[in-house]
Amino acid sequence: MKIILLGPPGAGKGTQARLLTEKFQAPQISTGDMLREAVRQGTKLGLKAQEFMKAGQLVPDEVVIGIIEERLAKNDAKRGFILDGFPRTVEQAKALGGIFSRSGEKIDAVLNFRVPDEDLVGRLAGRRLCAKCGAGYHLDFSAPTKEGVCDKCKSPLIQRDDDREETIQKRLDVYKKQTAPLIDYYNREGILKNINGVGDFKEIFRQVLAALGK
Ligand code: AMP
Repeated sequence: MKIILLGPPGAGKGTQARLLTEKFQAPQISTGDMLREAVRQGTKLGLKAQEFMKAGQLVPDEVVIGIIEERLAKNDAKRGFILDGFPRTVEQAKALGGIFSRSGEKIDAVLNFRVPDEDLVGRLAGRRLCAKCGAGYHLDFSAPTKEGVCDKCKSPLIQRDDDREETIQKRLDVYKKQTAPLIDYYNREGILKNINGVGDFKEIFRQVLAALGK
C-alpha cells in the first residue's frame, strides 16, 4: 500500500502511521523524523533545517524533495510506504507526482485527519518523547509511569522545541496557508479520504482501515 497521511500538526498522523506500518509491513517515512535525526547528528542538512524547524516554518521544498527522492529509492519502499508529513506544499505534491509518473506507480490513498484547532494546541503542548528510543507520550492521555522517564528504556523524556506554546500557533498557521490546499489537490485526483481524528486511536484506526477498504 502506498499511503499519504495528511492533517495538521498534532492530528495523530504519527500514531496512525505506526499502526499502518505494523498492519501492512510497509515503512513509515516521516520527513520530520529524518530532519530531526539530521539536526541531532549535526549534518549539513541538519544545520540548514534547524532554523526553519525551530521557528515552526517549513524547510524549503527543494531540500525536502531531495530527501524524499533518496528515501523512496531504497529497497524497502519499493512495495509500499506510509508517508507521514510529506508532501506539505503543492510544490512537494507535484514533485511526488512526477517521481511516480516516471516509475509508473500510483498512490493508493491520501488520508486526511480532521481535528479542531482547539484540540490540536492541547495535544501538541502535552506531547513528550524519549530522547533515546523515540517512544511517544502525552501528559494527559498516555503519561509515563514515572514523571519525565521513559517506561521502555528509562531515559529522560523531552519536549520537542517546536511543541512549545509559542511555536505551536505558528505551525498551525503554516499548515493552513501552505499544507491545507493539498486537501483540494488530492480531492481533485479522487484519492482523498476524510478521517475524523477525534477520539480513541484504535477507533480512528478502524476508520482508517475502512477507508482503505480493509
Ligand atoms: P513533523 O514532525 O512532521 O511535525 O515536522 C517537524 C518540522 O519539520 C516541521 O514543522 C517542518 O519544519 C519540518 N518538516 C517536516 N516535514 C516537512 C516537509 N514535508 N516540508 C517542509 N518542512 C518539513
